[in-house]
Amino acid sequence: MELLVPYPPTGPYISEIYVLLRHFLTIKELSKHTVKIVTVLGARPQFIKAAVVSRALLQHTGIQEVIIHTGQHFDHNMSQLFFDQMQIRQPDYQFGIHGLPHGALTGRMMERIEEVLLAEKPDWMLVYGDTDSTLAGALAAKKLHIRVAHVEAGLRSYNEAMPEEINRILTDRISDLLFCPSETAVNQLRNEGRLARDARIVMSGDVMKDAAARFAPLMKAPAAPLPDRFSLCTFHRAENVDNPQILKQLLHALELTCDTLPVVCPLHPHTRKSMETIGYPTEKSPIRFIEPVGYLEMLYLLSHSTLVITDSGGLQKEAYYMHKYCVTLRNETEWTELIDCGYNRLAGTEPDIILQSVNDLYGKVPGFHTELYGDGHAAEVIARTIATPLP
Ligand code: UDP
Repeated sequence: MELLVPYPPTGPYISEIYVLLRHFLTIKELSKHTVKIVTVLGARPQFIKAAVVSRALLQHTGIQEVIIHTGQHFDHNMSQLFFDQMQIRQPDYQFGIHGLPHGALTGRMMERIEEVLLAEKPDWMLVYGDTDSTLAGALAAKKLHIRVAHVEAGLRSYNEAMPEEINRILTDRISDLLFCPSETAVNQLRNEGRLARDARIVMSGDVMKDAAARFAPLMKAPAAPLPDRFSLCTFHRAENVDNPQILKQLLHALELTCDTLPVVCPLHPHTRKSMETIGYPTEKSPIRFIEPVGYLEMLYLLSHSTLVITDSGGLQKEAYYMHKYCVTLRNETEWTELIDCGYNRLAGTEPDIILQSVNDLYGKVPGFHTELYGDGHAAEVIARTIATPLP
């Protein structure tokens, strides 16, 4: 028997029912094709990266993102301020895990992340950079057979004493999608040749380049008064601030450079704690210590500085994006292109070398001609790649 049904159906209420049915089917159809991502964030630089990537993910109708904040960074001006300033969606899960040694921190994060993954059943775990939150997210997901996407893959300092280096190597090793900020990182992964089965390497460019370009028009002056010319300094790497001898040496070096250029230093809470432990007289120091600032104030400080002195990975690149020379308070860097181009100088922690580097780069005519780290559309590449269904 053949049933003749007019298309679309007509009659009282029938068309309304038809519309509802269509709507329901569309939602069902969409949810069938929706890619669900769980993102793990925990530390300041990850909020900045997520600000551009999460926005790009939102622009894809087929992607649903669930955000976890592990709580690794928790002070208002290390965490919530970034969500407010950069309009990052509030996390769906907040763990508040912080202030523990690496093992306990990573373990407790994994335990909580696993619970979320079992409940949310995502297609992807998205992690950024090289923190304990990164490794916890990647490990928890991989053991549940959930694919891992790593943003900022392929970076190496070759210094395995750095906790960050361990986190990077292990996260890369188990990632299925590796988004690299540079060709150097791509080559690094290819040369290592120790990737997950079917892993894909994508040269996305650096998402922090996207962030600097996007938020630079919104930069604003920090509350603290600033000298006319100054070097902008940040330092917080464990190998620089956990050893009292090295910390004292670094502070002495920075004091010496104040004769060349006043130093403005937004003080990381971890560094502040270490300085209190050694009894450093912050109030009497020639270095102008200020509270950590938001990203918009940081962009202002960068653009108004004469020089950057840092041990931060992110700031080395931001100095370049803002066309400022950088003295790096380390013996190696993951961002080797900056050294090769002469934009950055590795000065370690010896006062003489730091002072010499500051004096050499201070007053040097800016000449930033080489285009590095992609075209400023890394976030879009990442979103598009994740949204594309796998064969
Ligand atoms: N940053 C900030 N406020 C500050 C100090 C740093 O917004 O007071 C930003 C900085 O511009 C960069 C990021 O934080 O984008 C770097 O973070 P951090 O140095 O903590 O981590 P790393 O890059 O070394 O992993």
